Amino acid sequence: MYHVKAELAKGVTLNVEIKDGENTYARCPVCGKEAKVDLADIFEDGDGLNGALYRPECWEGVRDTVIGGA
Ligand SMILES: [Zn+2]
Repeated sequence: MYHVKAELAKGVTLNVEIKDGENTYARCPVCGKEAKVDLADIFEDGDGLNGALYRPECWEGVRDTVIGGA
């Protein structure tokens, strides 16, 4: 079982079990909206957690900048 651990304040630690597809989210770097993600898909695409999840309507506006297109 995997979990996320974060110290919220001195002596206060949050531990949350990662339930893939149930409590895993990413925030779109363009609009800031949150979307549920499947970690298996994220890692299958190759960038893992270093990548970004763009909402389709936002991706259309930044695709050329992000991938260096014409
Ligand atoms: Zn967006």
